[in-house]
Amino acid sequence: MSAVEIPSAPRKPGEGVRLFAFTVGYVHLPLSYFLKGEQGEVKAPVTAFLIDHPKGLVLFDTGLGQRFVRPRGSPADSFIDIEQGDTMLERVRALGVDPADVRWIISSHFHADHCGGNGQFPNATIIIGKAEHDFARDNADGQLYCREEFDTGQPLLKVHGEHDVFGDGTVVVFATAGHTPGHQSARVRTDGGDIVLTADCCTMQRSLEEFRLPEHCHDADQALASLKLLAGLRQKGARVFPSHDPDFWETVAKNVPVR
Ligand SMILES: [Zn+2]
Repeated sequence: MSAVEIPSAPRKPGEGVRLFAFTVGYVHLPLSYFLKGEQGEVKAPVTAFLIDHPKGLVLFDTGLGQRFVRPRGSPADSFIDIEQGDTMLERVRALGVDPADVRWIISSHFHADHCGGNGQFPNATIIIGKAEHDFARDNADGQLYCREEFDTGQPLLKVHGEHDVFGDGTVVVFATAGHTPGHQSARVRTDGGDIVLTADCCTMQRSLEEFRLPEHCHDADQALASLKLLAGLRQKGARVFPSHDPDFWETVAKNVPVR
């Protein structure tokens, strides 16, 4: 593995791991889908990340698939909405990065709003929880678990528990089951400190602050244990990025390294 230059954001000498955060469309859902018992609706961003490690590029999730993309300027969809130009492929290209240079994709889980772009990074190895892979394979419904989107032909690295992607402690994948059986998160060690990419084990800031579960999850006890694990990391100084919180994501700088 060797460094890949990001033309829009050249690496400074001695700079460590950098993280780029993106919103890649939206899902409109009842708020109770994220926080059980809440009323009303929420326009929740779909989110994904590029991790720029000196030894190679890694994605954490890839957002919605091409089947959801509408032409730019056409009317927005009232459920799942992504406009042309906003896909993970296009976000990565907009930085000047060739999608063929992505070496790894960490898939938090195989739900359609998290793995839809996996197939567009042909040289990436997909890092997926073994339990998640098996569950998706056995429960593909063409909607939430869509085989064309998660069974994309690249090599799979099936993880059970923890996996240190570069063997240097900077990008560590760890199990956060509950939302789904094999859900996983990642801790990224940037020069500005540790950042935890939670995906759907922590969709909202309030999920963590109030230990609130969604209306539906695969295993509520596991989901709560995963939130407590995140709380422990936060107590040690890590910043925890919830996956679908519109207010939080308003504050996140896009297309530049997270500071
Ligand atoms: Zn999900």
